[in-house]
Amino acid sequence: MSVVTRIAPSPTGFMHIGTARTALFSWLYARGRGGKFLLRIEDTDRERYHPEAVDAIKSGMKWLGLNWDGDAVSQFERRDRHAEIARALVEKGAAYYCYCSPEELDVMRAQAVAEGRSQFYDRRWRDRPAGDAPPGVKPVIRIKAPLAGDSTVQDQVQGPVTVDSQNLDDFILLRSDGTPTYMLAVVVDDYDMGVTHVIRGNDHLNNTFRQKLIIEAMGWPVPVYAHIPLIHGPDGAKLSKRHGAQGIEDYRDMGYLPEALRNYLLRLGWGHGDDEIISMDQAVAWFDLDGIVKSPARFDFAKLESLNAHYMKEADDARLVDLVTPFLEKQTGTPLSAQSRAWLAAGMADLKQRAKTLVALADEAHFYVAPRPLPFEDKARQTVSDPAAQHILTILAARLETLEPWTEQAIEALCHDIANQQAGGKLGKVAMPLRAALTGRSASPPIFKAAEILGRREVLARLKDAIAN
Ligand code: GLU
Repeated sequence: MSVVTRIAPSPTGFMHIGTARTALFSWLYARGRGGKFLLRIEDTDRERYHPEAVDAIKSGMKWLGLNWDGDAVSQFERRDRHAEIARALVEKGAAYYCYCSPEELDVMRAQAVAEGRSQFYDRRWRDRPAGDAPPGVKPVIRIKAPLAGDSTVQDQVQGPVTVDSQNLDDFILLRSDGTPTYMLAVVVDDYDMGVTHVIRGNDHLNNTFRQKLIIEAMGWPVPVYAHIPLIHGPDGAKLSKRHGAQGIEDYRDMGYLPEALRNYLLRLGWGHGDDEIISMDQAVAWFDLDGIVKSPARFDFAKLESLNAHYMKEADDARLVDLVTPFLEKQTGTPLSAQSRAWLAAGMADLKQRAKTLVALADEAHFYVAPRPLPFEDKARQTVSDPAAQHILTILAARLETLEPWTEQAIEALCHDIANQQAGGKLGKVAMPLRAALTGRSASPPIFKAAEILGRREVLARLKDAIAN
């Protein structure tokens, strides 16, 4: 059997981190088995529908590298097909028309509460003849849930889960305005899309028993179910707004790389021995439903950050220049000059060693893009304004003017020489003022290399700025 999985997000305006993880698991499961991974947009709630929300899902999936097969399916556009199946279920005797008005249902529920009975719909139309239908009332279609017995789902994560039929009501399949309910639409779409494995959050486990009623009544194959535990915040409570970032866009804006977030989401609720750094190829080869952890996963920012630091070091320099550019442009408020980009590209090999996120990288790279005169941080200002440092910077500037060749090694050797002559051999007495003058900071990537990259003209200009300070 060829595997078909899917992700079926509702367009809420952003791509929830939990949805992203479910998508990743579904994608990996299909890709590892030569199967298909499909995207269905559950867009039946027209009041809350916005095309931008669909774009957010698609761009989030693309950013994470989760390509889907074929075109995305719109659930809303399939509403006629859903209605057709609801009517087919009536034909088969597995569903029925119910003509209760909302007021009638309210009375029924109030009575049930007063008598301490179940508030489920009392099935009053289940066996009534068609001739009883009141004229002019548009009915809903309800499923005929079994009146006795129980139902078991062999869940691949949770194991066998059984519910008593007492807990299944004659729920609505088709509303009186002809629109399908979520319960019906999901089942019909999964069947038509040929979905063999439904991997989703375990908040949907209860729905599965209802959906199985429809599937079985239609005589369709029951897909394999894997309900994965939800993501909790660091405090152990279900991830919610108060924990901060929920959408993957937020993580992108915080400067995480897609491969780091992907690796993090994979490990969040799935394991392969002690492996922490897992490439996409390894994940495709290794991913299986067996490795899914049964308890809720706790979000751990420190772990995400350390994975990101790892992937930043591995990332191609030119790609990092592209990725950090929007962060830098936001910082400076102007487009990067060709000169800044060239400096950044040359300095990236050192810059990326120190930054854990693109935001941190942009901060680190600030001195390659900031216009002169550079702003000084307090400590750097103190360093350069010290009279001994001013003296050293003046000598350094004079000798750098004629230094040949202009290389990291030659600059370092010159600084040693000046340290020997002026500071009892203490290189820091020369290097720290130089660092402060060139970067405005007291910490930076290796400074002699940075000086080589900035070039003689720029270095001398920055030294002069610092000396005049
Ligand atoms: N639309 C549902 C959600 O966003 C998913 C339904 C499903 O996976 O069956 O939670």
